[in-house]
Amino acid sequence: MDMIDPFGRAITYLRVSVTDRCDFRCVYCMAEDMAFLPRKDLLSLEELDRLCTVFIEKGVRKLRLTGGEPLVRKNIMHLVRELSRHLRSGALEELTLTTNGSQLWRFAGELADAGVRRINVSLDTLDPEKFHAITRWGHLDKVMAGIDAAQQAGLGIKINAVALRGFNDMELPDILRWAHGRGMDMTVIETMPMGEIDADRTDQYLPLSVLRAQLERQFTLTDIPFRTGGPARYVEVAETGGRLGFITPMTHNFCESCNRVRLTCTGTLYMCLGQEDAADLRAPLRASEGNELLSAAIDEAIGRKPKGHDFIIDRRTNRPSVSRHMSVTGG
Ligand code: SAM
Ligand code: SF4
Repeated sequence: MDMIDPFGRAITYLRVSVTDRCDFRCVYCMAEDMAFLPRKDLLSLEELDRLCTVFIEKGVRKLRLTGGEPLVRKNIMHLVRELSRHLRSGALEELTLTTNGSQLWRFAGELADAGVRRINVSLDTLDPEKFHAITRWGHLDKVMAGIDAAQQAGLGIKINAVALRGFNDMELPDILRWAHGRGMDMTVIETMPMGEIDADRTDQYLPLSVLRAQLERQFTLTDIPFRTGGPARYVEVAETGGRLGFITPMTHNFCESCNRVRLTCTGTLYMCLGQEDAADLRAPLRASEGNELLSAAIDEAIGRKPKGHDFIIDRRTNRPSVSRHMSVTGG
């Protein structure tokens, strides 16, 4: 029984923010002094498993764990191992995660053993001092050790970098050469106006159309039809032989092909990253041992999936389009 939204889009991709907490405080993502969701509202790992399983029964084929930092959730590998039964049964095509890489040195082998094949690692600079500045709390050498461990474990890696004007725009060509040189794909992302942060987003925002023009002074970029089921549009880079993706929520509206919904660690389902509307799945989850109420609540929520987002970043609208931070819904 597939989930089809009012615009005829089949929902086959679930992203789960398993915690809104993080061991970094990236300046574009969080304020330094963050208020996190109350621990008492958290779903247990068993409840998260049950929720994901119902989504898989209802047609989800790809599941991404994210956060906050998914690998700082206590006992997260238990959930990964449990969910991997759906890979073995063939119900799920892909189980993956987006991580800041800080804990990968510890978990890369276990992730690979559980059937994870590819992961996304977020990395905005290769300069240790700049890395510490942008993440506030992070250490580049830890992340590099994690990337090494992941490659040794045979995991495919895509590097995600947020394009930040005046911070990494000049460095992105080097990051691209480094990523492709190590056999990793790379994607650049525009900053999105989500949640109050300490900085001014208008200063950070770099439209990727501008970045692409800059890159084209050094590289030959050819559009290719390659897709990973997400919103990135890819080019092939002749000089490196690798792929580069552009995720352009601000400059290019990709909502017409949206196939995803997002679940938070407290059981709230967001039908769109860029809208406030949400559905509570925790109450129906806890109301009975059977899944009928939950399934009905999911159907009702999918029936409300909006057509798209209305992100806007400019000087006049200098406030978040949605009040929650990216770490709640998990990017
Ligand atoms: N902690 C993990 C990580 O950093 O990969 C997973 C969660 S993080 C919220 C997911 C992605 O969202 C990261 O690649 C991060 O750079 C990106 N991100 C965070 N805040 C953003 C914003 N306001 N606009 C665009 N991307 C953002
Ligand atoms: Fe943490 Fe990821 Fe947000 Fe950085 S982008 S603060 S690593 S959740």
